[in-house]
Amino acid sequence: MKILISDAFDPALPEKLARFGEVFTDKDRLPEADVVLVRSKTKCTKEYIDGATNLKLIIRGGVGIDNIDSEYARQKGVAVHNTASASSIAVAECAMALMIAIPANVIPGHISMKQRDWQKKALKRTELYRKTVGFLGIGRIATETAKRAAAFGMKVIAYDKYVDESDHAEMVTFDELLSRSDFISMHLPLTKETDGMINKESMGRMKDGVIIVNTGRGKCVNEVDMAAALASGKVRAYGTDVWYSDPPNWDECPLIDAPNCTMTPHIGASTKENLLRIGDVIEEIVEEYVKEGKL
Ligand code: NAD
Repeated sequence: MKILISDAFDPALPEKLARFGEVFTDKDRLPEADVVLVRSKTKCTKEYIDGATNLKLIIRGGVGIDNIDSEYARQKGVAVHNTASASSIAVAECAMALMIAIPANVIPGHISMKQRDWQKKALKRTELYRKTVGFLGIGRIATETAKRAAAFGMKVIAYDKYVDESDHAEMVTFDELLSRSDFISMHLPLTKETDGMINKESMGRMKDGVIIVNTGRGKCVNEVDMAAALASGKVRAYGTDVWYSDPPNWDECPLIDAPNCTMTPHIGASTKENLLRIGDVIEEIVEEYVKEGKL
């Protein structure tokens, strides 16, 4: 069996997988590969899949598979897997990092100190305690984040179109979530329904001064509307790890220069521990395919 590692994974992964066959990183050898391992950088388009004439399995190290044309892969008999559960803790901690840093003014405080500017009076912090946090989507990552938010004494509510119950959140309608939340934490996949879900109209139904954190997908928020809401103060702050593209179009993305926008470069899943977990799950998936005689 030949395995192409197409994106950045744990450095120990090639050694782990060597017992299954030849493992290589040379992308020019795509036509030989039985298995391709990708994260978000490699785009598995129709052309890519057509070029992989031996391919049986694509494994996405991570959750979102929007960089893979899964429908076309299936038509061509290529299975697509992700490592869904591996990343939950890493991304939940990233969401909490933003949720804590923003109202605590960590970044403005740091920047002002670098400028030798003592902003003790101006930088008033806001507590998370007893604030309501609304989760958009209450799947794996949101659930881990909700547990952590509850530990801070936050009231946790959630809206999920496909989930009616949660042990960690009071389930509410979309409308209620918008009107009740002091913080909104977004954990949605990018679909036709969620594309641009947070826009001028939905933000208009939120509390004035709401803080929004997005570690789901960038396109679930209309960036132009968000920049306007930040400028007007309707949204007090937006913390985002996710973008229309990786990296964003620096000249066109309106968030780069928007006020009160805290930004990270899609590093939610990028912990050392998570890369190890992803490697372990990939090993299990390949092993299962071998046992079932599919590889
Ligand atoms: P999940 O599938 O467990 O949870 C997603 C939830 O969203 C589900 O419960 C689903 O029912 C809900 N949902 C789907 N469509 C909806 C809609 N229209 N309205 C309301 N709810 C809807 O996935 P997860 O593992 O929790 O991951 C969530 C998202 O986080 C992923 O889809 C991915 O885009 C993103 N992610 C980001 C990073 C990062 O580095 N920032 C890393 C991993 C995953």
